Amino acid sequence: MKTVDTINFDGKKALVRVDFNVPLDKKTLEITDDARIRATIPTLKKILNEGGACILMSHLGRPLKKLKEDGTVDFEKHTLKNTLAKVSELLGVDVKFASDCIGDEAIEMAANLKSGEVLLLENLRFYKEEEKGDEAFAEKLSKLGDVYVNDAFGTAHRAHASTAVIAKFFPSAKCFGYVMAREVANAEKVIKHAERPFTAITGGAKVSDKLLILENLIDKVDNLIIGGGMAYTFLKAQGFEIGSSLCEDDRLELCLELIKKAESKGVKLLLPEDSIVADAFSNEANCKPCDNQHIEKGWMGLDIGPKAATYFAEVIKGSKTILWNGPMGVFEMTNFENGTKTAAIAVAEATKNGAFSLIGGGDSAAAVAKFGFEDQVSYVSTGGGALLEYFEGKTLPGIAAINE
Ligand code: AMP
Repeated sequence: MKTVDTINFDGKKALVRVDFNVPLDKKTLEITDDARIRATIPTLKKILNEGGACILMSHLGRPLKKLKEDGTVDFEKHTLKNTLAKVSELLGVDVKFASDCIGDEAIEMAANLKSGEVLLLENLRFYKEEEKGDEAFAEKLSKLGDVYVNDAFGTAHRAHASTAVIAKFFPSAKCFGYVMAREVANAEKVIKHAERPFTAITGGAKVSDKLLILENLIDKVDNLIIGGGMAYTFLKAQGFEIGSSLCEDDRLELCLELIKKAESKGVKLLLPEDSIVADAFSNEANCKPCDNQHIEKGWMGLDIGPKAATYFAEVIKGSKTILWNGPMGVFEMTNFENGTKTAAIAVAEATKNGAFSLIGGGDSAAAVAKFGFEDQVSYVSTGGGALLEYFEGKTLPGIAAINE
């Protein structure tokens, strides 16, 4: 991959697409988790230490979609000014701010930027042109810098103006930042160079959300563990009584096809043998372990059961490559967290014994963090949707634009 290491930034102005889309406290608008800003600091320091200057562009939330009650744009909540102090603190540089990402002010501030200085542009998504991938808008942004750097893996699956379209204006001066390079290298390690046995752990609520990824993984893995709410559609497809567990009746056929496909490829598709069932979707509900052969009416499976947890853990511990996307149960409620926790412990143990484990963003990352295992797995992706699309076998526009 062409990273910032392949370019000398001395005297150059780097236009860097970062992912400063951080969560903010609803009342104080203070950053509640600065991980995304922290992640990109090494990329920015490399540019600055070499004598370059950085012009940072990002989005924050969806200002044109999440309007205030009176129908107007909530500038206060969506201004990137909310991140300015934190970026300055983490970089150790007094970062300047342009109150519009294009226009005279941004042009002037970018032109006057000296070596070692940093300019943060206002939220790109105050313009509808950003998400539309508008070429004229991308061109205006491109005029602000000499080199284009993309370090925003979280938006790499979007063909937006600043994430993909802009790259064409830098035919020989574009590269990836370290976050992007690390995410792609880790994803490739799993999908292209997996040491065997390779086990994918999938879970979460819906089969329909994970269909493409399941299909693609069947071509790559040795074991495909299916837990969480989506397991019940597979169980029903096989003729089991699943009570009032989550089920997508329009996907039953498809589940059977996936089971057949796995069989024909010699892939072990593992469904839970038992569940923790409850009489309501609540941590206060009555609950008990139950074989998945016969979940009674009025009861729903909210976690994999102890037999399934033990078996899945054994399979995980015997693996050399592990990809985890989606919890085994409603891990947010203590009565239904055991399956996910047992899987996390097994992933940590396998990693200790030399396996490579990649945790896909979103709920799996939240679960691993909740149980305190983030430092005992090989890599926790920041990607979410981008990582999922990568594992679905899609080409990510943000990556293609730099490689082209
Ligand atoms: P997803 O975004 O599809 O990965 O789904 C994650 C969500 O699935 C989490 O919030 C879990 O609480 C939920 N979930 C996992 N297992 C179950 C289950 N058996 N029944 C209902 N929801 C579940």
